[in-house]
Amino acid sequence: MPSHRQLFLEHMAQTSPFPLLLEVDHALGSWVYDSNGKAWLDLIAGISVSSLGHRHPAVVEAIHQQTDRYLHTMVYGEYILAPQVELASLLTSQLPASLNQVYFVNSGSEATEGAMKLAKRATGRSEIIAARRAYHGSTQGAASLMSPTDFTRPYYPLLPGISHLEFNCNWCLDRITEHTAAVIIETVQAESGVCIPEKNYLKYLRARCSETGTLLIFDEIQVGYGRTGSLFAFEQYGVIPDILLLAKGMGGGMPIGAFVAPAEIMGALSNAPILGHITTFGGHPVCCAAGLATLQTLIDTPEIINSVPEKEAMFRELLKHPKVKKIRSAGLLMAVDLDDNQRVMKVIQHCLDNGVITDWFLFNDRSLRIAPPLTISQKEIRHACTVIQEALDNC
Ligand code: PMP
Repeated sequence: MPSHRQLFLEHMAQTSPFPLLLEVDHALGSWVYDSNGKAWLDLIAGISVSSLGHRHPAVVEAIHQQTDRYLHTMVYGEYILAPQVELASLLTSQLPASLNQVYFVNSGSEATEGAMKLAKRATGRSEIIAARRAYHGSTQGAASLMSPTDFTRPYYPLLPGISHLEFNCNWCLDRITEHTAAVIIETVQAESGVCIPEKNYLKYLRARCSETGTLLIFDEIQVGYGRTGSLFAFEQYGVIPDILLLAKGMGGGMPIGAFVAPAEIMGALSNAPILGHITTFGGHPVCCAAGLATLQTLIDTPEIINSVPEKEAMFRELLKHPKVKKIRSAGLLMAVDLDDNQRVMKVIQHCLDNGVITDWFLFNDRSLRIAPPLTISQKEIRHACTVIQEALDNC
């Protein structure tokens, strides 16, 4: 009998020549286990997904209850499904009044795609501006937003009409004009290695978009739902987007994404033509039930998000080491800068061998990524940092 590892390498499409190859048997809380009982402390949370930890009881219970009632029944947008409407209503109750309609999809990339189409349709314009070193997804529309183009050039032609500006560059905002349908930007850039907006940058960006009639899209797919220390990262910057993108953490471990917009804007997808954007599985009832339990848990247990700054400070303190050049963090999304990529890769492997999962970033290969479940305990943080310190000593 071939092992699962052999079958993985033979029959699973590979995304890189160096997969992590951790064989999962089960996962609970901050931990992932293999079938021999070896445990790994998960400092990545499935890339910012399992914010409540793995298999949070409220999420698992909601999934069970929903699977006992119905699974898929009809394409998105036709039937009235309790988990969808309850999640849409709870989500919008947590957002500024203008963000009052939710379009559910299955992933972050799809949220980006939907928002790009919506912006074109709602403004009648075709140009979209994105920030350099942003990541908005891997589908062709979302990938068109990517700059640098190392990951996308072999797939040309992609979408026309896309241009870029530097994140945090105030004078670049002049490039936004009456021809720009939308500016799409991560509130905090994740894959560039955690880039935080400088004071007032997002306010100037908002002002320029309003001045030119351009829609402002915030991608909170990675930072949304508490990771930066507030339910939505944009709350910390006093700026409200026209369209908000969510995915990853919103499903508590189930696949779901969403773009949220004012009803007057969202309405553009329902006429001329009708069915301007459709999806079979978007807002799957089981995923929405899991998403509802996730959001409700975060609302009912405010200490989860409130404890983020304290945990961030602990990591920053306990990761002081001569080989650590700098730490950039937005709550529990952290980039630990080392000398070079080789050292980052060695530290990742050393940590993995010693039961701690970390990772790297797409657009910053000198930083170690730390993005644990928000529920990680102080004891777990101490343990994780001891292992990382040992890795740094040895690599
Ligand atoms: N936007 C951001 C900011 C992301 O981090 C990601 C995923 N890393 C995406 C979009 C794409 O999400 P998905 O992989 O679910 O398509």
